Amino acid sequence: VSRRVVVAGGSLGGLRAVERLRAAGWREHITVVGAEPHMPYNRPPLSKAVLRELVPNGDEEAAAREVAAAAAFPVRVDSSGIDWRLGRTVTGTDLDARRLSLDDGETISYDGLVVATGLRPRRLRTEATTPGRHVLRTADHAVRLRGALVAGAHVVIVGAGFIGCEVAATARQLGCDVTVVEPLPEPMVGPLGGELAGAVRLHHERRGIRFRLARSLVEVRCGRNGGLEGVALDDGSIVRCDVLVEAIGSHPNVEWLEGNGLDLSNGVLCDDYMRVEGRADIVAVGDVARRPCAFLDGQPLRTEHWCVPTDTARRAAPTLVAQLDGLAPASTGQPPLSTFWTDQFDLRIQGLGVPGIADEYSVLEGRVHELESGVAVGAWRRGTLTGVLTVGLAPAAMRPYRERLLATQAGMTVTA
Ligand SMILES: Cc1cc2nc3c(=O)[nH]c(=O)nc-3n(C[C@H](O)[C@H](O)[C@H](O)COP(=O)(O)OP(=O)(O)OC[C@H]3O[C@@H](n4cnc5c(N)ncnc54)[C@H](O)[C@@H]3O)c2cc1C
Repeated sequence: VSRRVVVAGGSLGGLRAVERLRAAGWREHITVVGAEPHMPYNRPPLSKAVLRELVPNGDEEAAAREVAAAAAFPVRVDSSGIDWRLGRTVTGTDLDARRLSLDDGETISYDGLVVATGLRPRRLRTEATTPGRHVLRTADHAVRLRGALVAGAHVVIVGAGFIGCEVAATARQLGCDVTVVEPLPEPMVGPLGGELAGAVRLHHERRGIRFRLARSLVEVRCGRNGGLEGVALDDGSIVRCDVLVEAIGSHPNVEWLEGNGLDLSNGVLCDDYMRVEGRADIVAVGDVARRPCAFLDGQPLRTEHWCVPTDTARRAAPTLVAQLDGLAPASTGQPPLSTFWTDQFDLRIQGLGVPGIADEYSVLEGRVHELESGVAVGAWRRGTLTGVLTVGLAPAAMRPYRERLLATQAGMTVTA
């Protein structure tokens, strides 16, 4: 009887898991259950080129299909024995019985399970259910949002993280009037540190974006016709608003795993092999996984970057295949260095390592207020370099920072 690995989640993490399972020698069945109706597609363009270049034509469903198809990842594995159940959601699990239930009532048994269900956007806690409220995670969201970003629209973005700032830049490029509301003192201050974040804010302000920093939204105001009119902030001011983008973070999609005794307090807790704690036949990949971080002395950390699904699938899939074959997993070795990027106007900000956990930042190269000339900022935690942020540096100029961080990471990694 042929055995089955089920991959829950059909985005980048799900796809990389499938590829790495086959690469690790798994020749038996794979079933991928994905809540979205699309094959895996690339999300970063959704807040950048897709949002900027999409021409709204009224048929949102067809447009979302086109966006997802245009951004689809090539599937580089032989599709035989792989069953893609798209537009299907896993609603529950009995991990002891190795069984999943789907939203259409079907149950699927598995021998091994890959958790790749990623995140969904957090929403504002407000009663107002007006059509002017938006989030951005999927192709469908991008199409809806693009339809609202008409020149002259008053756009308020709540949350000045990467996605909030990317949408702000794109909306401004589309001719919208853009205000960003953020409770912290600078945009993206967590990963970038105060000085670099302040310089990026100035760059945006010079291009017409208004920031309301150290301020929170307290009320969403609608007019008599039910449409959005404005938002009230905690200093009593009102900001005019036709389009409200909620970019206030995300929730890991883990509810379907509840009732099985797992630690789901912030995603799915994994060990260094990406095995879900206490369950050798389940691994997790991508944004949903919380895993040991060398720069945090092995404490678990969950990160939401494009490199994560690929890096984690590379560890998770061989682990699962070894387990299903009754073998011990191979040593995990040195983990790759985490990286990320964000594109806002003409700036490309790149991150190496884990800058978001730093307690101090210092300029390593260039001048922070001359971003276009090339800048590198070091992120330090208790005196150790944990990350480097660069703007406008060529790949060759980043190499020494990469090598230094890799060496530090190797010194701190306890290889499993
Ligand atoms: C707008 C946007 C811009 C971004 N830009 C950048 C960037 O510039 N640089 C960068 O480094 N990173 C960027 N990222 C982050 C990057 O895209 C993510 O890290 C990556 O998509 C994570 O992939 P994933 O497969 O782990 O999770 P996801 O992409 O969240 O995929 C999870 C999938 O699982 C499905 N699912 C959820 N629950 C269930 C269930 N119960 N049953 C079945 N299926 C389920 C979901 O519908 C989804 O399709 C961006 C993300 C977004 C949204």
